[in-house]
Amino acid sequence: MNRAGLRVSLLLLAALSRAGAGSPHSQEQEGEEPPHSHEQGPGHSHWSYEDQEHWGTNDPDCAGNMQSPINIDTAKTIFSPQLRPIQLSGYSLPASEKLRLTNNGHTVVLTLPESLAITGGYAQQYRAVQLHLHWGSPSGPGSEHTVNGHRFGAEIHVVHYNTKYNGFEEAKVQPDGLAVLGAFLEVGPRENPYYQEIFQHLYKIQRKGEEVLVSGFNIADLLPDNLKQYFHYNGSLTTPPCFQTVKWTIFNQTMLISHYQMSMLVMSLRNDDNRPLQNNYRPVKGLHGRRVLASFQTTLPPAKHLPADGDGLEAADRHSSSSFHAGDVLAVLFGVLFAITALAFLLYIYKHRSQNTRLDSPTKSKVIYTAAATENTA
Ligand SMILES: [Zn+2]
Repeated sequence: MNRAGLRVSLLLLAALSRAGAGSPHSQEQEGEEPPHSHEQGPGHSHWSYEDQEHWGTNDPDCAGNMQSPINIDTAKTIFSPQLRPIQLSGYSLPASEKLRLTNNGHTVVLTLPESLAITGGYAQQYRAVQLHLHWGSPSGPGSEHTVNGHRFGAEIHVVHYNTKYNGFEEAKVQPDGLAVLGAFLEVGPRENPYYQEIFQHLYKIQRKGEEVLVSGFNIADLLPDNLKQYFHYNGSLTTPPCFQTVKWTIFNQTMLISHYQMSMLVMSLRNDDNRPLQNNYRPVKGLHGRRVLASFQTTLPPAKHLPADGDGLEAADRHSSSSFHAGDVLAVLFGVLFAITALAFLLYIYKHRSQNTRLDSPTKSKVIYTAAATENTA
């Protein structure tokens, strides 16, 4: 019990220190190298998803220990009630505002005006820069993050930078420089009108470098309604230069688009080799000691139902410290009460047997009760 309590306390301490977003100390604990300023020259557009093992050669961060994406194992996430709902402001844009939609050879990018901002849920304010998507192929899904090993159809990333820096270029190399909001896309029964605002233009930007102007709409409609339930961890850009400067938010609620829309996304664009732009997702990377926080209590997986020790700890991770200690005390209390009751019972048997030797009852407790009943009626 003590060992378990200690481990849980340590986990909670780790969770609390990590939850302090923007604290440079928590970044150091990840063993991150000091940020170096990369030249993001034209060479960076030559990387491809086929030569990922070489990403680290040009961009050392790509071989680092705080990389993204990751698999989110919900049984190992740490419930952190202090993670407040994500608040967005300025996301609703008038149709008169025109946004640039680009095929950059790796994804489709919607450039966002700086009026969009995250004003709640993070310790600091972040301004939007762009959003883009990751997807699979006609034969398989293509989200970057996975949840309990499950890969979703596609994934949207809305990239923001910390307003304490003078723009994205300055912020991207700072430990607390970037915030990315991510959500999963799945195939549902009907067309999603908000995603259609983007998808309807894809046929015009089939080749790398092509762009088109898109009328403004409410960008928040591309994200889930539920901005309260999310996972949070410190990671990186998922493409070179893989800077380890991203505070990730992955929403629990998924977005639904029609089967036809998913096909449009997967089939419309071509990469710089003029081949179909598909499977533009990076495989998951190791956590290397990082903790994934959850703003909500994730459900218990069926295999983790052992009561007191061992695997039962996994369940305790998701409770607040006070409730776990209360449970500890109660367990001891009930144990003592049980011992006293058992002792009293044994004493009673002993006394009863010595008083009624003529009954010479067997060891089964049932008989004792019968004897007592007989005595009462007599
Ligand atoms: Zn991305």
